[in-house]
Amino acid sequence: MEHDAVIIGGGPAGVEAAVFAAQNRLNVALITDTPLGGRAVWGSLVPSKVWLSEAYKATCAGPNIFDIERMRDRIAAQSQQSAQIIKDRLTHAGVTVYTGKAVLDASLAVTIAPLIDGQDATFLNAGHIIIATGSEPIFSPTLQPAPPRIIAPRLAGAMPDLPESLIMAGGGVTGVEYASAFAALGVKVTMLQKGRRLLRQFDPEVVAEFEHWLTNDLGITIHTNAPIQEMKVDGSMVVASTEKGEQYMATHGFIAAGRRPDLSFFKPDALELVTTSDGALLIDPFCQTSLPGVYAIGDAAGAPMTVNHAQMQARVAISHILFGNNSQMLRQPLIEAVYTYLPIAQIGNMDVRDDAFFVVKSFDDLLKARIEKTRAGIFKVKINRANGLIEGAAAFGPAAVEVLNLIQIAIHQQISWDALRAIPLPHPTYGEILTNL
Ligand SMILES: Cc1cc2nc3c(=O)[nH]c(=O)nc-3n(C[C@H](O)[C@H](O)[C@H](O)COP(=O)(O)OP(=O)(O)OC[C@H]3O[C@@H](n4cnc5c(N)ncnc54)[C@H](O)[C@@H]3O)c2cc1C
Repeated sequence: MEHDAVIIGGGPAGVEAAVFAAQNRLNVALITDTPLGGRAVWGSLVPSKVWLSEAYKATCAGPNIFDIERMRDRIAAQSQQSAQIIKDRLTHAGVTVYTGKAVLDASLAVTIAPLIDGQDATFLNAGHIIIATGSEPIFSPTLQPAPPRIIAPRLAGAMPDLPESLIMAGGGVTGVEYASAFAALGVKVTMLQKGRRLLRQFDPEVVAEFEHWLTNDLGITIHTNAPIQEMKVDGSMVVASTEKGEQYMATHGFIAAGRRPDLSFFKPDALELVTTSDGALLIDPFCQTSLPGVYAIGDAAGAPMTVNHAQMQARVAISHILFGNNSQMLRQPLIEAVYTYLPIAQIGNMDVRDDAFFVVKSFDDLLKARIEKTRAGIFKVKINRANGLIEGAAAFGPAAVEVLNLIQIAIHQQISWDALRAIPLPHPTYGEILTNL
């Protein structure tokens, strides 16, 4: 069958591309090997946000209100509802959805292998192929799930009950979110991070405040410079050994050691698709891969692995198919956020440079924070000395993500720091951190 565009993957990237393309009158097919919504809906984003929401409730009302069965039901209901909304969007836009595992061959024809034995394969040809196959967790032979004791994000909901204690392997976004949720639910959490701090891509000063909150308010024990060599079940306990020979024990382990692009849709010897050193598909600013007519978007195209980035890439790729090199390019930078109940977020690069200066402010100084008695948070913004434009910002505190939303608009619209500060914002709000300096 001939289509203008065939999209492989039904997660946030593939769905956004399919709807946008169909709305622009392209004849589109989308292939998915999971229920619609991809891993984001069924394994990663949605379940983790439900865990965090339940943890937040427990923070307000005490851990005893937590009910793991109710949470499992909430995750299932939320995932089904999200998938239904996606299905309706695709149907309304006129996208043809195929279920199966897509394989791309050297002639750029797509074979859809059925998920059920005995069914026939389907073959599609298209003017353009869009790879939106997402990413998978990284495990190693000595660091892999062994449920129910050693789990990972997509297995967390299958635990029969909350652990008594837990070792979190990994101090990136996923590790930090789940560690904060378990700690808020009364689990004794120990985090082992191989680098010098958690969230290594974020500003160190802001991360230091965040780590202080995790340790002092949530009671999490953090060990940095502690790369795990092995995690194994030993009787009723889990033992994690570090490369330095230290050993940590808990009733459960959780692996959040990063993700790598899922490129199982092609065989490297059959197709000359160039990849990066991180194992992602190499793309240009229009999301084109090394093969003409083949685009890659979302996690398959590498970091940052976030939905806002994936959806932006989806629109860039489709715009390029429609309008060629005059189309929109990626708007950078985008916000990367961690949705702990006091969130931490960053936009842009916060490296120290002579031609830029920083302004640092505490959320404590705001009337809103004093009235709410919220714990201190920090906001830090980087400004170019020559033109006054904002280059980046990081924040930890009650409204960190919303405040950075305003910063993102300022960066993308080239509104200078002084011009932004001159805009009167409602009082009392956390947004006033931008004007109160
Ligand atoms: C625990 C966790 C929490 C997260 N929370 C957030 C968050 O709060 N906010 C945020 O922005 N990001 C979050 N992320 C990241 C976010 O989930 C990803 O960036 C997002 O899912 C990427 O979308 P995608 O469409 O590229 O991939 P995916 O969501 O992985 O979807 C890809 C789909 O393609 C399918 N597929 C793969 N190969 C084939 C094939 N050959 N044929 C057919 N189908 C195929 C896959 O099975 C999958 O269904 C989180 C990640 C994790 C791990």
